[in-house]
Amino acid sequence: MKTLYSFLFIALFAILPISAQNLSEKADKLFGVKKEIQFKFQIQSRAEISKLTRIISIDNVKDNYIYAYANKKEFLKFLELGYEYQLINDKEEETDYNMLDNLNYKDIQAWNFYPTYNAYDSLMSKFQTNFPNLCRSFSIKTLASGRKLLFVKISDNPDVNENEPKFLYTSSMHGDELTGYILMLRLIEYLLSNYGTDARITSIINNTEIWINPLANPDGTFALGNNTVAGATRYNANGIDFNRNFPDPYDGQHPDGNAWQPETMAFMALADSIQFTMSANIHGGAEVCNYPFDTWAQLPADNNWWNYVCREYADTVHVNGIAGYLDDLDNGVTNGYAWYQITGGRQDYMNYFAHCREFCLEISNTKKPAASTLPNYWNYNYRSLLNYLEQCQYGIKGIVTDSITGIPLKASVFIQGHDMDSSHVYSTLPLGNYYRPIYAGNYNVTYSAPGYYSKTISSGVVNKTSTIKDVQLVPIYITTNEIANYPNINIYPNPANNKINILLDKNYSYKEVTLTDIYGKKVFEKTIKSTDNLIEINVQEYSKGLYFVILEGNNQKISQKIVIE
Ligand SMILES: [Zn+2]
Repeated sequence: MKTLYSFLFIALFAILPISAQNLSEKADKLFGVKKEIQFKFQIQSRAEISKLTRIISIDNVKDNYIYAYANKKEFLKFLELGYEYQLINDKEEETDYNMLDNLNYKDIQAWNFYPTYNAYDSLMSKFQTNFPNLCRSFSIKTLASGRKLLFVKISDNPDVNENEPKFLYTSSMHGDELTGYILMLRLIEYLLSNYGTDARITSIINNTEIWINPLANPDGTFALGNNTVAGATRYNANGIDFNRNFPDPYDGQHPDGNAWQPETMAFMALADSIQFTMSANIHGGAEVCNYPFDTWAQLPADNNWWNYVCREYADTVHVNGIAGYLDDLDNGVTNGYAWYQITGGRQDYMNYFAHCREFCLEISNTKKPAASTLPNYWNYNYRSLLNYLEQCQYGIKGIVTDSITGIPLKASVFIQGHDMDSSHVYSTLPLGNYYRPIYAGNYNVTYSAPGYYSKTISSGVVNKTSTIKDVQLVPIYITTNEIANYPNINIYPNPANNKINILLDKNYSYKEVTLTDIYGKKVFEKTIKSTDNLIEINVQEYSKGLYFVILEGNNQKISQKIVIE
């Protein structure tokens, strides 16, 4: 925001106590056909932010000034609070976006342009056409406008789910924050064209599955049509800031009171199907690395790791950038809440619900920089973008399997005395692989999966190296004898739906029979009398799934898996 002052003109409106109808008329006049307006106002104390952030979309907080956006509905609520505000209007006609519709090789080398929507769409496809062994281009969602949420996936084996961390860069979910849009396109081209010649890039691609989405809100960016980014909006086509629209760890499923937007749902579905180890979400309007959480003051379990990777990002930029760039707040790093609270943000969603380490990179004070300045931002940032990408290789990683069958398992990987607020990770199927970036130290890590004994292993971690811990978990009943070794015991039918019959062997003395679910929870138990010959368990009430029948007696346990249908 800071440098915007030089080319903004500001209109001052004094708000007097007026009726709701007058407020509504005022808002109608102010908005006209616009879906959003941008404004600033003064607060007396930071305590006011908590209420305001749930009404309008705060963009920045500086020296008790709030910079914010609102749609008409939001603005009406804001007007009721009686703040005096100033509208902020971009003088966009002074900015040269150098919109290109047909890209040639020379343009791609210079990267001092903005592609039209169609040029963007075809450029994304060309990455796959030009690098068929390294790149897949696809859309995760076609919006009602026909515009798509486009991604590339970059890997040395792009069609194989490899034992590698998955990493995501995504930009411009605020459609008017454009710097990252171009930098992400350039990053894709940089990675692909340097594979096989640059050892560092080759290693990154060989060891990571990289997903890049340059434009998360194409309807906002191209609000005035596919051929210009002038008039780009923060909000989507429905006039909603979907970076306030995600389920929130503190504020519930719909913190902004709106239905989930198509973009929100597409990203939630993606995060659900692909377990990303790390990601970054690129914004503009400030210059700072903003790490979790945004919704509450409590610092994340990995606060020291966040400070370390964000510090590395900002410090590397400081070496390669110009004085005064990326130095907001604590010299380019802040905890989200410490800057200003937001609820329903994607960063918190990814960290809390998707177990993915994501931070917001606020990459330029100027939201829509002139095309000629874009190469500068690349030069300041690209080394830092690569550093952060490499961090997903480090920390503790490995594969979790069943100790008997070797089958990969989905297991929880929990750092004792450390993990909280969903900072733990899971191994994922089909490979059973997990990745836990963490700051240097010694940790006790507990691996657990339903139906298995948990196992705790100590791991020493050194920064910028990986500690590999492959873990075998023992199934809960493997220490018992299989019923198959007792030919005179018959448990039937299997699968069962009404009743399980247990025909006992007279040569064996039993004390107890239990039925447990896969989590080891007893759902039935009965003491066996010496006169019992047949035990019947009515299972109609039990939910479907895998269970264990366990017979105990004479310091021996025998068990059999049984399926209830
Ligand atoms: Zn933003």
